Amino acid sequence: MVTGRQSPNDLLAGLPSSDFDLLRPHLRSIEMDFGQVLIEAGEPVKQVIFPHSGIVSTMEGLRRGETIEAGVIGRDSVAGSGAAFYEAPSPSAAIVRFPGSASVIDAGHFRTLVELSSALRSAIARDLWLRAVKAEQTAACNAAHSAEQRLCRRLLQSRAMSGSDAMMLSQDLMAQMLGVKRNTISLIAHALQQKGVIRYSRGRLAIIDVEALSRRACECHLSDGSVRAPMPLRASAVPMSRTVPDFSVVQRSPS
Ligand SMILES: [Zn+2]
Repeated sequence: MVTGRQSPNDLLAGLPSSDFDLLRPHLRSIEMDFGQVLIEAGEPVKQVIFPHSGIVSTMEGLRRGETIEAGVIGRDSVAGSGAAFYEAPSPSAAIVRFPGSASVIDAGHFRTLVELSSALRSAIARDLWLRAVKAEQTAACNAAHSAEQRLCRRLLQSRAMSGSDAMMLSQDLMAQMLGVKRNTISLIAHALQQKGVIRYSRGRLAIIDVEALSRRACECHLSDGSVRAPMPLRASAVPMSRTVPDFSVVQRSPS
């Protein structure tokens, strides 16, 4: 039976109550502060994070010292699950971009419970699939659309995920989000402010005209939030191995 809101996190809320009860004793609540590093890049994952609210960015570091935002995680997803499951160093850092709260579970308990609960395995597999789809969309967006279009898309995405028109966004952070120079962000933010689309001052950004922002965003914003997880995996078809994920066994339920 799928319960309603046994957790503010959508992934946990969607678990059957009997499976959620396995996790419940091991979950603890945390507050996520702006800029807090939840997972260090290249380090083993100590805890898996299920946001209730706020936005967590996954950040990729480049050899020359730059960091680029590779993805965002909100209350519909989970941070650190893949690295925790495979006991591998995290390929990216996870940093709080919009404050909120979360449930966390130690990586060791998470691994044990993933092997006990087919529903949790299925939910984690769907989440990893969904994030792969979003990463592919973002790769296409980065190649095809202008920095202004992409910034407008990301602001709309942040607004939808945070539920707020106001956000802390330094120009450095916006540059990391888009993988462009800070000067490029400065020019775009100035132009958007001149046209009354946003108000921006000292790292605080407020969206003033959502309609205008939508018109300036690339087409990708229309599909943000519309990507849905595949049909649930059949419990018996989910691999138990923690060596190589085998997605060839994914089977769809009859429609
Ligand atoms: Zn785009």
